[in-house]
Amino acid sequence: MRLTVIGTGYLGATHAACMAELGHDVLGVDVDPDKVAALAAGRVPFHEPGLGELVRKHLASGRLRFTTSCEEAAAFGQVHFVCVGTPQRKDSEGADLTYVDAAFAAIAEHASQGALLVGKSTVPVGTARRLADAHAVEVAWNPEFLREGFAVQDTLRPDRLVFGVESERAETLLREVYAPVLAAGTPLVTADFPTAELVKTAANAFLATKISFINAMAEVCEAAGGDVSVLAEALGHDERIGGKFLRAGVGFGGGCLPKDIRAFAHRAGELGVSLGFLREVDAINMRRRDKVVALARELCGGGVLGARIAVLGAAFKPDSDDIRDSPALNVAARLKLDGADVTVYDPEAMDNARKAFPLLGYAVSAEEALRGADLVLHLTEWPQFRALDPGRLASLVSRPRIVDGRGVLDADRWTAAGWQFRALGKPAPA
Ligand code: NAD
Repeated sequence: MRLTVIGTGYLGATHAACMAELGHDVLGVDVDPDKVAALAAGRVPFHEPGLGELVRKHLASGRLRFTTSCEEAAAFGQVHFVCVGTPQRKDSEGADLTYVDAAFAAIAEHASQGALLVGKSTVPVGTARRLADAHAVEVAWNPEFLREGFAVQDTLRPDRLVFGVESERAETLLREVYAPVLAAGTPLVTADFPTAELVKTAANAFLATKISFINAMAEVCEAAGGDVSVLAEALGHDERIGGKFLRAGVGFGGGCLPKDIRAFAHRAGELGVSLGFLREVDAINMRRRDKVVALARELCGGGVLGARIAVLGAAFKPDSDDIRDSPALNVAARLKLDGADVTVYDPEAMDNARKAFPLLGYAVSAEEALRGADLVLHLTEWPQFRALDPGRLASLVSRPRIVDGRGVLDADRWTAAGWQFRALGKPAPA
């Protein structure tokens, strides 16, 4: 089939390359000429394992091209996937739909007879209906659940597909697009527009709630002297609860969960439904960043003015260079404002971090970041950081003190190597 993908950011670039892998002829469109030039040259302008190889494979196979022209895209595609951003609005917690509206309008204006416009962006419930009413083209909604860091495998082998459709023809076209994925046994849920839109926001709300639940338990453990990682392990053995997304730490960030739960609560409010618990989920999440800042102050003797602090991690999660609403950089920037001398190291997100936070210091390795440090903060869960040798590092720092903001470092190993070790949700050693 001839498909277009409008918006070639994290979601769209992945979707375009994966659709080519499924055998389709794909044209990716973006308003950002630099992004289009990079992708057309086989360079993915962000870190996503396996995506560069897939893009280059299909540039070479001739099944994947990129353009800045929406007109060209409208003329080319039978099915158009809209993957543009839906950030938080500047004036409220709602989603900014300017990009989605512009992309639908640009394609709808020039679309060929019988074209199907498929929204993949995460939107407030009611958006698909509004767009379908506004344009003389058929609309469907096919929300996306991929995880950055696993984007290619999540697109080619998703847990489920959700089609929000209003006609058999739209469902048939989408079944054709995803035929190899469906043939592999992927569950398909077809739904009306509002339900399809809600699957995505409800899924993100649930995941965020699970993380904030265990982080609230961490707060209680801190107050009562319990150990949240032991608590989480025991809770996770209950199959009704499950152990995933149950690790206490500095909380979630990124370009999706924070803005999605705010937009969901905001939209529900417009509909007269109170999802006030999501505001508490958000508040718990932000309090964990405060807690790391407070621990840093405590360990530095009451204030961080003049302290050398090494921050391990800048990306909002491992296997990504995405720094949108990154807890690590938020904490780093706050400590810098408090007068600390902060040096950050991240295996992939250095360029993005440097652009967004030019006043922080940056090191070329974890070792360099740690040299002479009074305190180390471990804030992004890269496997490289777990593999660090605390014995060797103890000789590099000025004072061996570390806060594990992700709850994955081996406390006994670090303590045995002479480190003062603190983690969230665990009692301070006597
Ligand atoms: P992004 O900012 O990385 O990419 C959006 C792209 O759209 C940018 O390259 C931008 O230049 C382009 N764009 C904006 N307006 C355009 C227009 N009118 N025509 C063509 N291109 C246009 O964002 P993202 O992370 O890829 O997210 C996109 C959507 O997917 C959001 O709604 C997000 O919530 C959702 N989503 C993201 C992920 C993820 O992991 N990143 C996962 C699932 C869903």
